[in-house]
Amino acid sequence: MVINGRTKVYGIIGNPVTHSLSPLMHNRAFAACKENRVYIPLPTADLHAAVEGLKAMHIDGASVTIPFKQQVIDLLDEVDPVAARIGAVNTVLVKRERNEARLFGTNTDWLGSNRAILDHMELHGSRAVILGAGGAARGIGFGLLEAGATVEIKSRSQAKGRLLAKQLDCGWSPLDEPPEQETTILINATSVGMEPDSKASPIEQRLLDGYRVIMDIVYAPLQTQLLKDGATRGCICINGLEMLLYQGVAQFELWTGLEAPVEVMRQAMLDAVAS
Ligand code: NAP
Repeated sequence: MVINGRTKVYGIIGNPVTHSLSPLMHNRAFAACKENRVYIPLPTADLHAAVEGLKAMHIDGASVTIPFKQQVIDLLDEVDPVAARIGAVNTVLVKRERNEARLFGTNTDWLGSNRAILDHMELHGSRAVILGAGGAARGIGFGLLEAGATVEIKSRSQAKGRLLAKQLDCGWSPLDEPPEQETTILINATSVGMEPDSKASPIEQRLLDGYRVIMDIVYAPLQTQLLKDGATRGCICINGLEMLLYQGVAQFELWTGLEAPVEVMRQAMLDAVAS
């Protein structure tokens, strides 16, 4: 890759960002498309200064990650309506007209989770259970509703789960009970199963009956205990890299206006987790 005076610059704003797979994924995609663009880590403890810096430094777009996805909203000029409803922005596009730069914020996390499932089944009219009531569950829940699915939240904390269910206008039930209605999709949006506790699963194996598709958004390890349990029951199993991949695909397409090289991006992430 040759970086020159015309290279368009993108990056990831967060604290920390050292663990992020996004630089590898986006730089491989830019190279595959022969685009004169580069994606760099932009770690910061000062979100306000970092966002102002996007305009001042002629950066063309940015990913936003933990802990800034909510806070960044107030610093942008325009936020897309779904991101505003979710209450989190993970993608910024810097729009430049004449001498003015405007910051547009959107959320591609929900697009990523929807597209990962859409590779296997239609979402409209489907029923999904989401395990967890944190930030990821919230984005995934809004996304599924946006696609016309029905959602039920299951969580450890009843208060947090019921609050999210109220905001989504959907049902809630405890983790150790079967879903209230027959459901085909199960999504783990808790951190249970993550290394080093990779033998743990958020729900007991006996409660997997009836699900056709199981997606785990934990991606370390790639084959979580939940996915192993689902595979032995014949379920279609989707690992956590798929959501991460497709949220990046949506970012790439927003920033460049090009069709993303999905396979190149998937391989970049598989290489990263294998190394
Ligand atoms: P978060 O806001 O901290 O929420 C974590 C959720 O997990 C909470 O609902 C929490 O329940 C639940 N939880 C934690 N330990 C639990 C346990 N032992 N039993 C039952 N529930 C438990 O985190 P987040 O941002 O939503 O992220 C959740 C996970 O998704 C993380 O592992 C993150 O790395 C992963 N993630 C993956 C992607 C992707 O693209 N693949 C994207 C975003 C996040 P309580 O509320 O009761 O504490």
